[in-house]
Amino acid sequence: MNKSGEKRGKEEKNSNTSKPSLNFIENIIENDLKTNKYESKVHTRFPPEPNGYLHIGHAKSICLNFGIAKKYNGLCNLRFDDTNPITEEVEYVESIKEDIRWLGFDWGDREYYASDYFDQLYDFAIKLIKKGKAYIDDQPLDAISKQRTTPRQAGIESPYRNRPVEENLDLFKRMKAGEFEEGARVLRAKIDMNSPNMHMRDPVIYRIKHASHHRTGDKWCIYPMYDFAHGQSDYFEGITHSLCTLEFEVHRPLYDWLVIHLKESDYRPRQIEFARLNLSYTIMSKRKLLELVEEGHVSSWDDPRMPTISGLRRRGYTPESIRNFADKVGVAKRDNIIDVDLLEHSVREDLNKKAPRVMGVLCPLKVTLTNYPEDKIEEVETINNPEDESMGTRKLPFSRELYIEHADFMETPPNKFFRLAPGREVRLKSAYIIKCEDYVKDEKTGEILEVFCTYDPETKSGPGAGRKVKGTLHWVSAQHAINAEVRLYDRLFNHPDPAGQKDQNSNVFLNPNSLEILSNCKVEPSLKTAKPLEKFQFQRQGYFCVDPDSTTEKLIFSRTVPLRDTWAKIKDRP
Ligand code: ATP
Ligand code: MG
Repeated sequence: MNKSGEKRGKEEKNSNTSKPSLNFIENIIENDLKTNKYESKVHTRFPPEPNGYLHIGHAKSICLNFGIAKKYNGLCNLRFDDTNPITEEVEYVESIKEDIRWLGFDWGDREYYASDYFDQLYDFAIKLIKKGKAYIDDQPLDAISKQRTTPRQAGIESPYRNRPVEENLDLFKRMKAGEFEEGARVLRAKIDMNSPNMHMRDPVIYRIKHASHHRTGDKWCIYPMYDFAHGQSDYFEGITHSLCTLEFEVHRPLYDWLVIHLKESDYRPRQIEFARLNLSYTIMSKRKLLELVEEGHVSSWDDPRMPTISGLRRRGYTPESIRNFADKVGVAKRDNIIDVDLLEHSVREDLNKKAPRVMGVLCPLKVTLTNYPEDKIEEVETINNPEDESMGTRKLPFSRELYIEHADFMETPPNKFFRLAPGREVRLKSAYIIKCEDYVKDEKTGEILEVFCTYDPETKSGPGAGRKVKGTLHWVSAQHAINAEVRLYDRLFNHPDPAGQKDQNSNVFLNPNSLEILSNCKVEPSLKTAKPLEKFQFQRQGYFCVDPDSTTEKLIFSRTVPLRDTWAKIKDRP
């Protein structure tokens, strides 16, 4: 596993000595610009299939395609590769658009659909048939597949391969007219049954599907295969650089073959392959993600544990953090697994600058200040973000009864415990130094129920304010605190490569403790007006985001990431 995506990204970039700051794709593009290959134009596209929500791997591709277009003053299209009516839905189209916009990219008026080209593709299929370059095969798909044999063996030609052109034309038109059942016939390109590249062994380019399409309705009952539509769509849109993931490298000769036969011109989109993003402890296939939703392992596509863009958004990720992550990962030519820590690092780095600090006590323990007047309330001032003074200060109410974190008190602490313990002193953040004088414990369970302290009135301001003690704790005033639910997330899978284990369904690696709900948290009163998706740093705890499930009665936070690793600490609480 690659611990540092950053390092690997740079390595790729440095592989070209003349321009160390360029990655290999930028190098190719700059060469094409120099030789004026595409009249100095750069036109890319992001081509999702609308069969699921986008995930962090797609985010990588979006940042790359839109980023390259921006860098070279070019354009990037959004094109839905909607050739399969069975799995595609309008809901997915809408979510994909929302996610791309949220990431900060804009396709202008260039929202295209492969289905926009169904007529042109059909005409092209007719053209291929007329040229003797395509034929109708009456065999079932498994027979066709068997006849391809293996790359080292010669393929077996279909008995229908040399059907006369007229018969092919007639059958194809009747396929379109709906005369045949699904699977009865397919249209195949007539290329080379002995090619070492299996994709060139007379690939299927059209199949019968009696299904309604989300855009073309019931107009068609034959649909082009992805491989037939993809390269052509690039061609129709004038794409110059078609960036795709490595598995399409072997499809490239087929795309090129098709484009050559489509139009005998010099222009051809240039396909460049890069390694797909894999993340440790994460699965990234839409099919598998759909399964997690359908089987109820997560609540929805935007469950904050999902690696989907909508899940990350709900978890509290910012668009900047995802773009920075994509940047740090770089583009690679070899498959690898990026450590999910790098993604978490990126969001910490961004939220550290942006998120206001607030007091939130996850597992409250009551503290009474015995020498503090009973009905006194004072306000203490505290800064909103030490990383950014322009974010100002706010006032917090302080009173005799407070809550601190359960884990911040120990009855018999080890030497290095710099928090509260009998006879020990700590500072309450932005307020006084307090000393533990006594505590109450449930004798049966051993649970600490309440702590009694005295406060030193000289230590908030004036000469005593500078007095140093080793620990500083976050706190909230009990009578002012707001109740909140906090959802803590851990990795959804407990195997670093859940999808890569042969013969084992990734679901066996699901982490049964990936969600922990704390329903009795206490947060400072300023959070009363917090809006869904607003982000905060709970001091000493991590970054948290207001969950859209929140209501006016019930405030719910999702933890984006702990500050460092507070996970173990919270789990160890009594
Ligand atoms: P999945 O296997 O997750 O369903 P896909 O490749 O089938 O993904 P598409 O909708 O076809 O999903 O992908 C749209 C674009 O995003 C394609 O250009 C694809 O290469 C790219 N892409 C998909 N997954 C990744 C990934 N993990 N890393 C980088 N790019 C990706
Ligand atoms: Mg796909």
